[in-house]
Amino acid sequence: MTHRPHVAVVGGGVTGLAAARKLSRACIGGVTPSVTLLERSGRVGGKIRSRSFAGATVDVGPEALFAAAPEATRLCDELGLAEELVPTLRSNTAVWTRGRLREMPAGILGGLPDGIAPVLRSGILSPAGAARAGVDLVLPKDGGEADESVGSLVRRRLGDQALERMIDPLLGGIYGGDPDALSLKATAPRLHALAREHRSLIRGLIAAGRSTPRAQGPMLVTLPGGLQRLITRLRADLGETEVVEREGVLRIEPLPGGRHLLHTTAGRELTVDATVVATPAGAAAQMLRASVPAAAAELSEIRYTSVTVVWLAFPAGALRRPLDTTGFLVPRGERRMLTACTLASAKWPHLAAHSDRVFLRCSVGRNDPQATALGDEQLVARVVAELGEAIAALGDPLDAQVTRWQDAMPQYTVGHLERIGRLDSVLGSLPRLRLAGAAYRGVGVPQCIAQGEAAAAQIVSALS
Ligand SMILES: Cc1cc2nc3c(=O)[nH]c(=O)nc-3n(C[C@H](O)[C@H](O)[C@H](O)COP(=O)(O)OP(=O)(O)OC[C@H]3O[C@@H](n4cnc5c(N)ncnc54)[C@H](O)[C@@H]3O)c2cc1C
Repeated sequence: MTHRPHVAVVGGGVTGLAAARKLSRACIGGVTPSVTLLERSGRVGGKIRSRSFAGATVDVGPEALFAAAPEATRLCDELGLAEELVPTLRSNTAVWTRGRLREMPAGILGGLPDGIAPVLRSGILSPAGAARAGVDLVLPKDGGEADESVGSLVRRRLGDQALERMIDPLLGGIYGGDPDALSLKATAPRLHALAREHRSLIRGLIAAGRSTPRAQGPMLVTLPGGLQRLITRLRADLGETEVVEREGVLRIEPLPGGRHLLHTTAGRELTVDATVVATPAGAAAQMLRASVPAAAAELSEIRYTSVTVVWLAFPAGALRRPLDTTGFLVPRGERRMLTACTLASAKWPHLAAHSDRVFLRCSVGRNDPQATALGDEQLVARVVAELGEAIAALGDPLDAQVTRWQDAMPQYTVGHLERIGRLDSVLGSLPRLRLAGAAYRGVGVPQCIAQGEAAAAQIVSALS
């Protein structure tokens, strides 16, 4: 009789669920593998989490899918959710700097500004800051192959203001990290390429603006019922996968012959033919510490930062002028507690439809680590006070909800891609053990889906 391979997926975030779905449909030697997904917490979905709030459903983890990365929209399509996806109402965003909100140059959210004039017009850089950025035009070419921090390249070429007021807020929204530590190659690959290909970064930006066609269609989409709809549908589409919640994996022991022995938090020992580990890097390091110490050492180098998301609802009349931007980012140098604010009622049609109230989603923590130590009430009061300065006094919110994400954002620090390369080579001798998820090759939901599916495909080929 043909042996039916048994594959474990450890971690039930979107990466693990995507891996389990792919495995549950695979064919290995004429049979479908049996799949067990082990999730340490009481729910699958990981960072994707939707909640009821002030009469609406809101996302307290990721809120948007980047439409240009096709994996998430393709998966929504396969799960029958394509019709539900809605684009943003507008795509402009602002920076709170030099005393007021200033519009970010168009295109920059997609990676690069559409030319230099919009950057100068935005007023985000002071005249001295703009003049310093211009020095890039006369500096000798210096972009090399080696990795460096985003901060070191941008400070050197364009000056501190360009980094602190434009690049840092943008990267902060994705990684919640410090641009002087984040890897240029891993987090800003287009800037890295421009620095290598052009004598000046500004000339490179101008050339790229001319040659890159403007993105067609919406840049960001979401599911009005909350991104957790994606998780619910994914879970329902796992075939015969056994989903075990409240049971984590403590250790993975490779056995002779290529199988693995998993030791779980429930005291079970599970023997499987292959394993996809789709947890944050720290948990993966722990699982492999005794059995694959070289992999554990690399995994332990991947650090995380924390972020707190504060949802606020105000009566519609609280705003004195209409919201004409999707929100604003706050540079670290402004010394505010707010990191970013999404004017959710101006960004998403389903929230705009609540005509009697406005919804705002704020991120705090990165600019002021002390903020995370505050109790919910004090935190909300400080956020509301800062919003008052940025947009206008709003009065008391109708409702507020605070979600604290501890050690949630993996930091792709300098040398990240090399670290992942070393991990790959250590795990090269263990083809039935794959790592996938936000810690490795992209933090966005689409990249996590891609990694989960790729890991599943690699396991199938290793077992075939
Ligand atoms: C506040 C916030 C906002 C974000 N906004 C966006 C956005 O708008 N768009 C976007 O694309 N991305 C966004 N992201 C990033 C994106 O949400 C995450 O990178 C992605 O969801 C991570 O998925 P994952 O499955 O790799 O990991 P996770 O979601 O972290 O899932 C890992 C799972 O593993 C489980 N686990 C841990 N240890 C064990 C163990 N020992 N055994 C078993 N299970 C274990 C955990 O409980 C968890 O369920 C945001 C992230 C945050 C925190």
